[in-house]
Amino acid sequence: MSDELAFAGVVELARRVRAKEVSAREVADAFLSRIDAHDGALGTYLVVDHDGARAQADAVDAAIAGGADPGPLAGVAMAVKDVIVTEGLVTTAASKILAGWVPPYDATAVARLRAAGAVILGKLNCDEFAMGSSNERSAWKPCRNPWDRDRVPGGSSGGSAAAVAAGLAAASLGTDTGGSIRQPAAFCGVVGFKPTYGRVSRWGAIAFASSLDQIGPLARSVGDAARVLEVIAGLDPRDSTSIDQPAPALEAALAAGVAGLKVGLPREYFEGSIDAEVAAAVHAAGAALVAAGAELCEVSLPHTRYALPAYYVIAPAEAASNLARYDGVRFGHRATARELGDMYATTRAEGFGPEVKRRIMIGTYALRAGYYDAYYKKAQQVRALIKRDFDQAFELVDVILAPTTPTPAFAIGEKATPLDMYQTDVFTLACNLAGIPGLAVPVGAATSGLPIGAQLLGRPLDEATVVRAGAVIEAAFGTKRPPAGGAA
Ligand code: GLN
Repeated sequence: MSDELAFAGVVELARRVRAKEVSAREVADAFLSRIDAHDGALGTYLVVDHDGARAQADAVDAAIAGGADPGPLAGVAMAVKDVIVTEGLVTTAASKILAGWVPPYDATAVARLRAAGAVILGKLNCDEFAMGSSNERSAWKPCRNPWDRDRVPGGSSGGSAAAVAAGLAAASLGTDTGGSIRQPAAFCGVVGFKPTYGRVSRWGAIAFASSLDQIGPLARSVGDAARVLEVIAGLDPRDSTSIDQPAPALEAALAAGVAGLKVGLPREYFEGSIDAEVAAAVHAAGAALVAAGAELCEVSLPHTRYALPAYYVIAPAEAASNLARYDGVRFGHRATARELGDMYATTRAEGFGPEVKRRIMIGTYALRAGYYDAYYKKAQQVRALIKRDFDQAFELVDVILAPTTPTPAFAIGEKATPLDMYQTDVFTLACNLAGIPGLAVPVGAATSGLPIGAQLLGRPLDEATVVRAGAVIEAAFGTKRPPAGGAA
């Protein structure tokens, strides 16, 4: 029973809870007992809120008993990446500099989940301040891939993907600055949706690179991700970059099909270092779209190879200015005067991990008066060219189909240098630089058994077309469970 609920998915759980086939409390308990049994070996959670989750579930059940509409996520047990703030629940961005910090408010996306009836189980592991591609940069503990525990779950939202894959949350929230929703989704065989920049409020998302950061869902199906995104999307007066557009009607797009849709395969993503099995799986996804009536053609995104250097100037530059607020005085654990000596010892000696320090150094260097034109300004010019590549491609096609990552999940410890790690992001960064939506969907497995992901990139605010194509690919490939549900 508990396993069955754990893999039932968002839409189905909400339906059952709303129909009183199962109580929100039973759903919450099913996930909590799986977390207690299996998460020790996987490391997906940093904080599990047993009491809070049960109380939220009871409130949903009480609303239903009282005849109120419990919302589109009624009783859906979800969890949230630790860079998104949650009222009363410790939030650290997986960093020691925020050890013990209890936010006094909910991020807008979290508040919208709760208002829709979702139950928040806890906070998910990630790379420190969302900087990384493997979850190995968490200051607290590693997170493992449920398909193979010697491999990374991806990053930075590694816990968000691994928890969904292993049935430890029905869906989750992640953030994607340069691929951190899509890449871990691909590595763990789940769906990950990075919305158009501005589609979802960033209020309460701990800032990494503010012009790139977006909150989005990870889930077991395109329909589940669509349901969650519809709930969290929409204007928020607290985030001046949030877009004044109604939440997109994504669930309506699920069954629209792709007949007559033009799909572009970007030539540059298949040149160079792409694993043959990954390329073949993406082409198979293209064939599935053609079989459903889409038209496939090659497109060119000529500045693709400059996305990585441009991103790794812009993101650290914005990070360096965003992270200046962590001066060890205003944040940090709520210490008593007696503890202050210790607290300063902790924050000074081990406040930021090495990758965060590296980004602050690179970003500060790139922004220095004498270098600004050579690095930051140049990177912004390249960013404009990358955006223009997409604008031109979307004059020819409605949606772009590409690999999410060059290879399936790599081994823990395999990427020895920062540059080795950065190179694994080569296919995801351009989407953020252009501000467009990107949906990662599973497209089968390699001979090793590891999942492979494709990504669909759409026009700004056209998540609906991306969902149409994603649903067709999903119908062809499905979402699989890891061996023993990740518990082996
Ligand atoms: N892996 C990329 C980085 O390290 C992207 C991270 C993200 O999207 N948050 O910056």
